[in-house]
Formats: sequence, C-alpha cells, structure tokens
Amino acid sequence: MIKVKKRKFLLLPGDGVGPEVVGEVKKIIQWFNSNKSLDFEMEEGLAGGASYDKHGTPITDEVFYKALECEAVILGAVGGPKWDNLEFSKKPERALLKLRKELKLFANLRPAICFKQLVDASTLKPEIVSGLDIMIVRELTGGIYFGEPRGIKPIDNGERKGINTHTYTTSEIQRVARVAFDLAKKRKNKVTSCEKSNVMEAGLLWREEVELLHDKEFKDVQLNHMLADNCAMQLLRNPKQFDVIVTDNLFGDMLSDQASMLTGSLGLLPSASLGAKNKDGKIRAMYEPIHGSAPDIAGKGIANPIATILSFAMALKYSLDLVKESDALEKAVQTVLDEKLRTKDILSPGMKEVSTSEMGDAIISKLQ
Ligand code: NAD
Repeated sequence: MIKVKKRKFLLLPGDGVGPEVVGEVKKIIQWFNSNKSLDFEMEEGLAGGASYDKHGTPITDEVFYKALECEAVILGAVGGPKWDNLEFSKKPERALLKLRKELKLFANLRPAICFKQLVDASTLKPEIVSGLDIMIVRELTGGIYFGEPRGIKPIDNGERKGINTHTYTTSEIQRVARVAFDLAKKRKNKVTSCEKSNVMEAGLLWREEVELLHDKEFKDVQLNHMLADNCAMQLLRNPKQFDVIVTDNLFGDMLSDQASMLTGSLGLLPSASLGAKNKDGKIRAMYEPIHGSAPDIAGKGIANPIATILSFAMALKYSLDLVKESDALEKAVQTVLDEKLRTKDILSPGMKEVSTSEMGDAIISKLQ
C-alpha cells in the first residue's frame, strides 16, 4: 500500500487575539479532515511574547526547525504592551523577522478586497471601493529593514546618529517582480511597480530591473511604473485602477496598510508570504492575518477570525494546490456575510453580532 504523506501545518497562535483567531482555523482543519477525508496534520508552537515568557526567546530553535519542515506556517499575531520594553533581539516581532528571513519569505502577498456586503465599513465612498480587488506584492527580506550597516551610534558633537541602509540587488528585485507578473497573468494582467527612482539609486535600479524582466519574460503583461508617494495618493483617489502592485519592503509596508483600510476592517484581510523552494521543490510559506495582536480586545471573544481563516484559504491555494477547497472556504465566508452575521469590528445597524467562535462555526456550517 502506498503511504500518503500527511500535509503538515505548523500553527503559531502567538499573542493577544492570535490564539483566538487561530483556534477557528484549527476547527476548520478538523472539519476538512473529518468531512473531506483530507490528511492535514497540525502541530502547534509558541512564538512571540508567549515564547519569550516560557523560554526567554521569541522563537526557539525547535519551533523554528518545525517551521522548516512543515508544508506551511499559519501565524496568528505577535506582540503587545507587556513586551514593549524588551531589548530589540528579544522582542516578539523578532520571531516574525527570523521566520521571514530564514524561510527566505521574500514575497508578501496582501490582497485588498472590498467585500460588497461591507462596502459601508470603508471610510471611502462606496463607488470608489465597491468591487475593489488589488493584490499588493511586497518584497519582504531586503531593503532598509535588513540592510547593513544599521544601528544607533554616538557622534562627535554629543549627539547620536541612527543608521539604516537601503539596498537591493538585481536578483532580489527580479524574483519578487516575477511573482507579481505571474500573479497578474491569473488576474487582470496588469502590474504597477512602485519605487522612488526620482530620489533613490536603489529605486532607480528597481525600476530598471523590473523593466528588464518584463521585456525579457512578461511582454504580454501590462506594466507601469509609479512613484511610491503618488501610489499612496492614487490608492485613495482611484484604487480600482490597480491590479497587482509590486514594491519594496518599506513602501510595501505602508502601501499595503493603506490599501487594507480601503476595505474597512483589519480583521478581514489575509496575507501570504512565499519563499524560495526547498529541496523537494516545494515553496516555503507562511500565512497570517495582516492585523496585529489587538491587545485592546484580546481575551474577550470578539476578535474577527475572518482574516486568519482567509489566510488559511490562501494556504490551501498556494501551498497545497487545493483550489476547490480554498474557493469553498472563501465562498463560505461570503455566505456568512450575506446572512448579515458580523463580529463587533464590522457591525452595522441591522446586522447580527456574533462572537469569534460563532463566526468560525457559521463559516464551517456553510462548508457543509
Ligand atoms: P492591531 O492590528 O493589533 O490593532 C489595531 C486595531 O484593530 C485595534 O483597535 C484592534 O482591536 C483592531 N483589530 C485588529 N485585529 C482585529 C481583529 N481580528 N478583529 C477585530 N478587531 C481587530 O495593531 P496595533 O494595535 O498597532 O498593534 C498591537 C500589537 O500587535 C503591537 O504589539 C504590534 O507590534 C503587534 N503587531 C503584530 C503584527 C504581527 O504579528 N504580524 C502586525 C502588526 C502589529
């Protein structure tokens, strides 16, 4: 008998609302195993402040090696005021940075979709955001967050100097641009590449390398270049002009947060971080909601689990190629929203308020 290899997810609930929202994904994994005869296996580990409290480090080697071995990591969120004053290397966020760097998760995919049922939750006019569907591809392992030299050092006049270095190489730019072009081909076939080539050499290189790759391999995809500050403005003025946006780590951090707010709630938006292939040809990947640990609502059972559930749907699609199951899960979320169920963050008059776990249960009931 052929032994089927189990597909293993590593769940890292993290801090704050992380365990609450990842708990709903656990229920969904169990549902798929029982009802669709899928062979998912779950392992769980500590990350962030929870790991620091137990082990004195934001992520242990043991958990890190599990992350290397699994099919995909599903992360809740890390951080919170309790750990704000720790030294930099012990901060919860270091767990994330280590996973991103060591798993070589160089492409962060953040869809900004405005669900038609929630168009009123956006601060923008309905006609500007209704039907919005943008994918932001952010470079995740290079640029100013990782460049050397970095640090804070004293200088001659008694002042201090803070230093960070922004660098990119041809291959770093082209591999993330390739992800963006490939995605665009499955969408509306349009890529907007953003940088600051008017004032930064690394930005100029970014523009040139994206253009070179486009001309060599992706002539059939429409490409335009935009300065990152203009992109920030255009995202508010006319966000539906975009299909796929590709940009560096720093600008991507900001533009994707901005784009997420077009849709009304942080609690709805998933993300995927894709990396280099491992020795079996599998892409390493981590999936997480874009929101943080929401310490202000942690433990109250009111966090919105949809972003994390949709992150799991992305894992089904991008890591396991289970497109049908992924679509079914996304559709279940839409149906629950159609039926006017809302967690507190997206509640509006005429809707029914549900808790985190009631939302998870309702989504599972639509999978039946
Ligand atoms: P946050 O995303 O945690 O919260 C911002 C606001 O959105 C809060 O009002 C919160 O209640 C609300 N919110 C967030 N997620 C929600 C959900 N699922 N359902 C309902 N409401 C939700 O951002 P913050 O307050 O700036 O950061 C809190 C902590 O999280 C900080 O320690 C920060 O460093 C950390 N953080 C972690 C990540 C991550 O793990 N990837 C990302 C961002 C922030």
